[in-house]
Amino acid sequence: MSERRVVVLGGGIGGIVAARTLRKRVPEDVRVLLVDRDQSYTFAPSLLWLMTGDREPGQISRGRERLARKGIELVTGEAQGLDPGRRMVRVDGRDIAYERLVIALGAQPAPELMPGLREGAIDLYTTEGALAAGSALREFVGGRVVILVARLPYKCPAAPNEAAFLAESILRRRGVRAKVALYTPEPYPMPTAGEAMGKALAGMLGERGIELHAQQVVEEVDAGNKQLVLQSGERAGYDLLLAIPPHRTAGVVRISGLANESGFIPADPATLATWADGVYAIGDVAQIPIAGGKFLPKAGVFAKAQARVVASRIADELRHREPLATFDGKGSCFVDMGDGVAAFATGEFYAEDAPTVSLRRPSRRWHLSKVAFEKYWLARWA
Ligand SMILES: Cc1cc2nc3c(=O)[nH]c(=O)nc-3n(C[C@H](O)[C@H](O)[C@H](O)COP(=O)(O)OP(=O)(O)OC[C@H]3O[C@@H](n4cnc5c(N)ncnc54)[C@H](O)[C@@H]3O)c2cc1C
Repeated sequence: MSERRVVVLGGGIGGIVAARTLRKRVPEDVRVLLVDRDQSYTFAPSLLWLMTGDREPGQISRGRERLARKGIELVTGEAQGLDPGRRMVRVDGRDIAYERLVIALGAQPAPELMPGLREGAIDLYTTEGALAAGSALREFVGGRVVILVARLPYKCPAAPNEAAFLAESILRRRGVRAKVALYTPEPYPMPTAGEAMGKALAGMLGERGIELHAQQVVEEVDAGNKQLVLQSGERAGYDLLLAIPPHRTAGVVRISGLANESGFIPADPATLATWADGVYAIGDVAQIPIAGGKFLPKAGVFAKAQARVVASRIADELRHREPLATFDGKGSCFVDMGDGVAAFATGEFYAEDAPTVSLRRPSRRWHLSKVAFEKYWLARWA
């Protein structure tokens, strides 16, 4: 190979941090390429603030030009093929050789995987959907608003709860007679964080009058009759349906030979290495086993930390040093609740028997911290 290249596939949270850290740490003669199908990037943790009307799309998205100014080579195109044997990726019909590869292609909402979802629901996980949800809540005249977790796994276990809290807050402030209900296949909210955390969150939902329907598997949406069709055969009505659709990985991941039957890529919990030499998987695309037969939740906080670990390991490998950086499974997240308050959860997900997670009570401080983190991220990284 005449030119030395590290290729990062996917320019979201994990990919941006990986590319920027790599550019600082790998030898200068090694090119760092960042591949993404989109020219701009949206900070997903702020999507629900489009719903509340606290943000405009332009405030939470950025072009990727700034990354080019940092010496990262941007390739805008669709990753279509991956050949770990030949150390080659295919982007828009062009083959690109790599010495090391970081796969950070995330997981995308795929409403088409649930019959009737596209017709009957608004997708909360896109810019257009979050804006449409905001309009629908501001025009809502009364009745039942259902937040639906369609399938597992999905990214950001806090988000459905946040959506429920924020929707309830909007409707209460408008003085509309409405009931907010959350349907999820999970046994309780944020189950990876353990039962105590789930119960605490369930209690907080209850305090706000939000109905929690846990362990409810929805088979399809009967959009004509505005009903969820549950696996049990029962039906549940709604007047407005806001959904976290089923997720799946990019086609290139599913056909790569790196993914298992789930469509996600098994990765080493400490190093994020895949079975293929020189190939790492980070963030939502990775499937990482933790205690209790569970998997690490899909969240930006982990994607970012993993990106730093992988960039550091690659830099050491390319400098012929022993790579020592490892991912420790620690992470935290805010749960925005509307009314200017948020809760804060922090945990160790690699603890031996089960993750240890603690939840700080809702306060204005956590909400302001969430806003500060958004500002920091958009200024520092994007
Ligand atoms: C509403 C919402 C709220 C959230 N809140 C939080 C939060 O508070 N805290 C938190 O930690 N996490 C949160 N998350 C989750 C967080 O956004 C994700 O976990 C994180 O973005 C994962 O990073 P990633 O790099 O793995 O993937 P992504 O950030 O999704 O990036 C993947 C990139 O790959 C690109 N791509 C995909 N396929 C292709 C292809 N074939 N060719 C080229 N490019 C491709 C995409 O365009 C995208 O830019 C939230 C998510 C949502 C939707």
